[in-house]
Amino acid sequence: MSTASPTGTPAPGQLTFVAPRRAKPARHLADLTMAERRAAVVELGEKPFRADQLSKHYFDKLNGDPATMTDLPAAAREKLGTALFPTLLTPVRELTSDGGTTRKTLWRLFDGALVESVLMRYTDRTTMCVSSQAGCGMNCPFCATGQAGLTRNMSTAEIVEQVVAGARALAAGEVPGGPGRVSNVVFMGMGEPLANYKAVIGAVRRLVEPSPSGLGISARGVTVSTVGLVPAIGKLADEGLPVTLALSLHAPDDELRDTLVPINTRWKVSEVLAAAWDYAAKTKRRVSIEYALIKDINDQEWRADLLGKLVRNKLVHVNLIPLNPTPGSKWTASRPEDERAFVRRLEYHGIPVTVRDTRGREIDGACGQLAAAE
Ligand code: SAH
Repeated sequence: MSTASPTGTPAPGQLTFVAPRRAKPARHLADLTMAERRAAVVELGEKPFRADQLSKHYFDKLNGDPATMTDLPAAAREKLGTALFPTLLTPVRELTSDGGTTRKTLWRLFDGALVESVLMRYTDRTTMCVSSQAGCGMNCPFCATGQAGLTRNMSTAEIVEQVVAGARALAAGEVPGGPGRVSNVVFMGMGEPLANYKAVIGAVRRLVEPSPSGLGISARGVTVSTVGLVPAIGKLADEGLPVTLALSLHAPDDELRDTLVPINTRWKVSEVLAAAWDYAAKTKRRVSIEYALIKDINDQEWRADLLGKLVRNKLVHVNLIPLNPTPGSKWTASRPEDERAFVRRLEYHGIPVTVRDTRGREIDGACGQLAAAE
């Protein structure tokens, strides 16, 4: 892909914070607040209430095709459609597993950049896992996305559109289990959400704002996952958005974390945990500590003990993820007995712990497997 190839494969440990400068995706209704939508409509010579109509179509009825918005005069449809509903995401390929209840979509963006999103339907909820950047600059060696480097930041609307697409498929009854809705959104697809802060916050607002301003998803159902950009965690805590924070820790000691999560060379375990506890105190939300269990690398009982001591008596939950295989990686998931021992040590310290299911593994749609190749 010549139009949007990443900056190149990063050297081990190399971090990329600033996305390469590229043409921006066109403005879309979902980029704008309600007030901005009204202003945009007025600027196009229409009455402000047209913005409310467009918003109802998009966020209530999940309709992004102005040609079908028959409550608007034909001329306005044409004009407003062109100005506020550009095509941002084009589906390239869809893979399903778990009897159709897990569904990974590869999207092409306007400039050829590729990203993926994953829909996961469970009995009691449906989760959309979305990408926030094309590629990622954080270079974690066990994550497929990190290996290809950062192509560019996504816009607010490009992020929201992934959720709307999932919501549409659910509403249309395309996902086994009957018509449904998106109850949860996790920023655990491609990219480091806090490295694309402004667009991600915009997207979170669009997701949680009640209709017709947004999709009306409960903030409690939204999870922002980060490698641990400490200043941005502090900023997020002050947004007044009670979303769940997930912190990708993966090691309780700096020596190992420096190699597994290179950002640790900038902000140490103690600093990132302090930021997480501040987040919990401000938002009253339980922080989720993500820990991929890698055989003979980070799965020793002494590391479980160290982790236990670091997080006990905090508003926390530890989510263990059996490492998912990625191309070219020498690492693999922990032995079952080591995983069990790790869980037991954490439970001994009184820490709520779960082992994440590895949905979508067969379609390379599980954590860390999103590489967006055609
Ligand atoms: N950049 C963000 C969000 C994307 S990754 C972050 O790192 O938190 C979502 C989760 O999947 C993170 O916890 C990440 O560390 C984890 N992950 C990455 N590669 C993985 C792999 N191969 N197996 C299991 N989990 C992985």
